Amino acid sequence: MARVGFLLDMDGVIYRGSRLVPGASDFITRLRKHGIPFRFLTNNSQRARRDVALKLHRLGIEASESEIFTCAMATARFLASQKANGTAYVVGEHGLAAALHRNGLTVVDDDADFVVIGEGRTMTFEMIERGVRLVEKGARLIATNIDPSCPTDQGTRPGCGAIVAMIERATGVQAFSVGKPSPIMMRAARKEMGLRTDETIMVGDTMETDILGAVQMGYRSVLVLSGGTKRQDLKNFAYQPDIIIDHVGKIPDEFIFENMPALAQ
Ligand SMILES: [Mg+2]
Repeated sequence: MARVGFLLDMDGVIYRGSRLVPGASDFITRLRKHGIPFRFLTNNSQRARRDVALKLHRLGIEASESEIFTCAMATARFLASQKANGTAYVVGEHGLAAALHRNGLTVVDDDADFVVIGEGRTMTFEMIERGVRLVEKGARLIATNIDPSCPTDQGTRPGCGAIVAMIERATGVQAFSVGKPSPIMMRAARKEMGLRTDETIMVGDTMETDILGAVQMGYRSVLVLSGGTKRQDLKNFAYQPDIIIDHVGKIPDEFIFENMPALAQ
């Protein structure tokens, strides 16, 4: 029997700010009922897996830590594969530092192999300055993601990409980004579920990350209109998702079970 599994973007798909998206909870229940594996996939590097699980719990969705896949994890695993026991100067928050530690990297203030950038609200200009100087000394510039901004309940907040841009402009060095749409994160999350490319479905609200990443990887893709993208925005993109729906609860069974004839009946 063919199998299927989901990569689910969170902000704009499962919740919007502090509110659950209609249909999201029922959709997760549906996946569990059918034994369909999934990972919550987020380009937010601020929170550790456990913190994300608690946020979901408070919104009414039960998820284990192992069902959450963050760009901080993807970045930490990638850096561990690039250099065992490497050192990193971190401009970001605790979720990023925790992921680096868990993967054998040490967080340092000088002599860093990597300068790693995540989003957050506690960074200072001195931290950016230190990052610039370490890159000039040869540290490799790594972005957890290059999303330019994050929507919040209060309005737009500068995202990781905006912070990265400051260091790129100051040094003339281009960062390497690991988060969506990078194939590094998109592939690692699929492999965690033990699925093949044609068994994987990505659900997201952002064309430039979720849908682009899925198209590049050969995953089936679902654009939901419950987040930042409107139907009329689609004309601006040369690539398109497989289906477009109002929210995640409206994914038709026929689409999910296209590769699962036994369950589709
Ligand atoms: Mg999103």
